[in-house]
Parts: sequence; C-alpha cells; structure tokens
Amino acid sequence: MRQEKEILALNAFDPRSLDGSGGAHRPAVDRRLRSFGTSSVLFYRDPIEMVRAEGVWMQDAQGRRYLDVYNNVPSVGHCHPRVVDAISRQVGQLNVHTRYLNDVVDTYAERLLASLPAEIDNLVLTCTGSEANDLALRVAQAATGGTGFIVTETAYHGNTAAVTDVSPSSRPGRPLASHVAAVPAPDIYRAADGDAGGRLAAAVEHAIADFASRGIRLAGMIADSIFSSDGVYADPASFLKPVIATIRAHGGLFIADEVQPGFGRTGDALWGFERHGILPDIVTMGKPMGNGFPMGGMALRRELLEAFSAQDKYFNTFGGNPVAAAAGLAVLDVIRDEGLVENARAVGAYFRQGLREIANRHEAIGDVRGAGLFIGLEFVSDRAAKTPAPEIASGVINGLREHGVLIGAAGAYGNVLKIRPPLCFSREHADMVVELTDTVLRELHA
Ligand code: PMP
Repeated sequence: MRQEKEILALNAFDPRSLDGSGGAHRPAVDRRLRSFGTSSVLFYRDPIEMVRAEGVWMQDAQGRRYLDVYNNVPSVGHCHPRVVDAISRQVGQLNVHTRYLNDVVDTYAERLLASLPAEIDNLVLTCTGSEANDLALRVAQAATGGTGFIVTETAYHGNTAAVTDVSPSSRPGRPLASHVAAVPAPDIYRAADGDAGGRLAAAVEHAIADFASRGIRLAGMIADSIFSSDGVYADPASFLKPVIATIRAHGGLFIADEVQPGFGRTGDALWGFERHGILPDIVTMGKPMGNGFPMGGMALRRELLEAFSAQDKYFNTFGGNPVAAAAGLAVLDVIRDEGLVENARAVGAYFRQGLREIANRHEAIGDVRGAGLFIGLEFVSDRAAKTPAPEIASGVINGLREHGVLIGAAGAYGNVLKIRPPLCFSREHADMVVELTDTVLRELHA
C-alpha cells in the first residue's frame, strides 16, 4: 500500500487524462510537452495556466481566481510590493557575482546570521535548497571523515546526484545507496505509544550499528523538522532532542533542512528546529528565502566550514548576488513588520481547529496535525485501521481546485493534504478552505 509513485508524481498531470477532443488547455499542454517532453511536471488532471498573483490569490489565463493554499515559496505573499520594489531597485543598480565587496550582501548575511543561534556564525549563499544541501553533505563528510547519512523514509532534500541519494521519495522502489540509511518517519498518528523521539532515536541507533557492521562511518543525519514529504509530523515538539543526541554520540552532524519549515512557517519561531529546542550543526534553507527570487543558503559553525575549506573550495556564481540579498532583506523585514510568525501561529491553530470540527462529520479525516501554517490533513478509508486513502486525497485536491482552492498532497501513501499557504493567510481564508473541504467531502460522500 506504500506510495509507489515518486514525490513529483503526486497530483501530477497525466497526458492521457486529456481526451483527444481536449480540454480548453490541450493546445497549451501540447506546446509544453513539445519542448519539455518527459521532464515536464504539471499539476492536476487538467493543468492550469497561471498569469498573475497577489497576496494569497492567483489568477489563471481565463481570469479565474484561486486561493493559494499550496505555495510556500511566495511566503510573505505573492508579489509582495516591498520585495518587488527591493528587487527592482537593486537590479537597476548592480547585479554581479559575489567576488566584490557589497554592502547589501554583507548586511543581509549579518541579518540572517543574527536570526540564528549564536554558535552558527558562518554562511554560504547558494541559489537553491538543493545546492545548499549538497554542500552541507560535503561539509559533514569533510568535518567527520565519515560518509554515512541517515534520512527518513519518504524524505526529499533536492535534486543533485548526491542529494537524490539522500531523498528516498525521489527513487521509490529502488535500493538506497550503500552509504544511506532510511529510518521510519516520526508518525505519531500510527505509533500508538506517542514516543516519536524515542522511536526515531532507536531507529537511528540501529542504522548507525548497521553502517558500522558494513565498515561505514557516520557523517550525519539530514532532516526537515516538519517532515514535509514524509506527511507532516510536528509533535510532540522537542522530539528531535534524543535523535540529535544519538547522532552526536556517534560523532555525526545534524543537518536541519529548513527549506520547508524555515522563515516563520511553523509559527513558534523563525526556524523550525527551534520548536524542538535543538542546536543543529548545519542549517540549510531555500524556497521562502527570496519570496520567489531563487535563493538558498547553508549556515554553520565556523570550524565546520574551515574543516571543509581546508580540503575543498566552493564558489557559486549567482549565490548571494546583490539582487538576491536585496530580496532576502526585504523578506526578513516583511516577516518582522507584518508579524508573520505570530500570524502563522494564530491562524494555523484556528485553521486546525476548523478542520477538526469537520472531522466530526467526515469519517475519511483520520488526523489533523502540524505547526503554524504547515498543516497535514490525513485521509483514511477506515478510521479504526487507519487505512491510507490516497484516492480521497486526490479527489479532494481536484474537487477543491474546481472550487478555486489550490492544495497538494504528501506522505508515504500520498494520502495527506499538505496545507502551507503564504504566511499572510487570514482566519477568513482558513474558514473558506474548511467550508469548501467540507463541501467537497460531501460531494465525494467521504
Ligand atoms: N529540502 C526540502 C525539504 C525541500 O522540500 C526541497 C524542495 N521541495 C528542497 C530541499 C530542494 O530545494 P530546491 O528545489 O530549491 O533545490
């Protein structure tokens, strides 16, 4: 019953789903496929052509508005005027690689580092989360002398060759590389004892022993503290404490992949790992960092970067260019000035409460969980047996689209809706999604 599809296949458009006579979008879909061929990844049975967006709303080519409950990249709101303005001004003034001194770049680095624990005092800027994670793997290997990495079973950490090795969700049904071990996600919905941390730490201990029996030394563990592609596991907060202690006891490093939970989404603090009260060795980030301008980064303790630099050099032409830095600064300003961390906390709690209320009417809702504005809504065909129901998740995703709401799925079985709208989402928006989910579930008789 495990998800046989890779992560990109969840809610993906299948060219066979448009019949020969074609929906309205047939010519646009054909055009896309002619250029991009099998690498093309489109959402929905009948894809949407988007033309503009603002705040939490997106608009398609036919002028139809959609409430965005999917996109965590434009996290301070689509086309936020302060970010647009910062990018436009900087691109008209200077944009160049990173080998010159530049005030905007250094100001951004200082602001970003100031938002992290004091021990994490150095930074490398990249263009994507994948690049940041790729570099973090190299740093961990250089600093520990080990090669082995531990990840969760349905993790996704990006798209380079090395990062795909530590992203089991990108390679379903294929054996993992010998230096990678996958441990079960901290699924407290299915693990009856509620001890998510103890179980995860025990699985990590077991994986390290298995590495040792094969002569593989531990480099570390990489995890996204909201376990986004695993199906959204947030609680109990602090469950990562025993896990990081186990990794450290065996000389490994802990890489906190903040590409999903970072920049305020989980509602308690700017960084997802802070909910767990842990101090990671390396923090990687991406997606929301530039609110749509491609940015990524790796922050870490100075001595780890020194250990890496002693044996390898790293240069990234576009990483941390002045326009990226201007975008990044504007994002940090907006998060602070608009109180978006607090908004994520308050609206997220309200949203989960609303979903729990409709769960009383719909047996198909097995669980509502998450932190801040990262919510998992799990569908089951049998509540007692907790049987995953990916067909219901798919029906709800496509039904909500018909009602003008954009949403996606995650999890090992593809049966968990991942709800992660821009952080300027309001209670009224949450009410709309709750009501429409109720309507769609009634339409589906679920
Ligand atoms: N880590 C996580 C947890 C992610 O979700 C993603 C992207 N989905 C990445 C890393 C990779 O980021 P990017 O696509 O910017 O390379």
